[in-house]
Amino acid sequence: MDLGIKDKVALVTASSRGLGRAVAEELAAEGANLVLCARSESSLDETVRAITGSSSVRVISVVADISDPAAVERVWACARDEFGRVDILVNNAGGPRAGPFEAHPPSAWTDAWRLTFESAVNMTRSVLPGMKQRLWGRIINITSIAVKQPVDGLILSNSVRAAVTGFARTLANEVATYGVTVNNVMPGYTLTDRIAHLAESNATRRGTTVAAEIAAMESQIPMRRLGTPKEFAAMVAFLASERATYTTGASIPVDGGWIRSLL
Ligand code: NAD
Repeated sequence: MDLGIKDKVALVTASSRGLGRAVAEELAAEGANLVLCARSESSLDETVRAITGSSSVRVISVVADISDPAAVERVWACARDEFGRVDILVNNAGGPRAGPFEAHPPSAWTDAWRLTFESAVNMTRSVLPGMKQRLWGRIINITSIAVKQPVDGLILSNSVRAAVTGFARTLANEVATYGVTVNNVMPGYTLTDRIAHLAESNATRRGTTVAAEIAAMESQIPMRRLGTPKEFAAMVAFLASERATYTTGASIPVDGGWIRSLL
């Protein structure tokens, strides 16, 4: 299937590793030029080298902490200077800190809000006027299955991702007549560094092994395995595509069947 996004410009935040990087690779394989950002210059450079080595798209990268509004503005300015526009925005970020309610001081709530919610809102504010003007745009937020079924021990993530979902669902209605779609993709357990670290810290805390912790995650999933970043990225690429013209305001799981709800 030709996704019809050759030469479009895609901005993928938090894209040096994990799901963000996999999405960037998938969009590059479809011919989209890329703007990447993350906090670490060395891992961003490695990602840019890998993508430019395997495709002919143009890629720029910006070192930025997207929880800082000034850094978001800088990412947008670099995208505008290099390409003049952004057609596809994928809002991603590192996950908020884990732990139960009483483990988090007030500042942890502010940090989670800035990282997950404000970064998506600020990035959207930058790119949306151009998308509306050109009557074409795709905004995709990477959220979590926690939006449908809160995950124990992740109270910060469970709370702020609900806000992102409300934002996206409302914005989708506001911009629907401009050819701009707004959707969320909800990863289930997907094998990235984040999940590897989570398994390691659970193993240390519970006195088990990493393999046992991964097996415990897999046992909850009807497919009995973790997802791969590439499987996740395929869904994002479809929603970013010319083919996905009539899907907006949706939250779509890529979770091997983990969520048991009917809708
Ligand atoms: P990851 O830790 O493997 O990668 C995170 C990426 O975000 C890295 O490139 C990192 O440099 C970048 N990053 C982190 N904080 C940043 C910041 N402040 N500014 C700019 N870049 C920043 O994580 P992942 O597994 O790819 O997860 C991506 C998102 O999806 C997270 O929000 C995570 O909570 C969520 N999620 C992941 C899973 C999963 O199973 N992997 C499941 C549900 C939700």
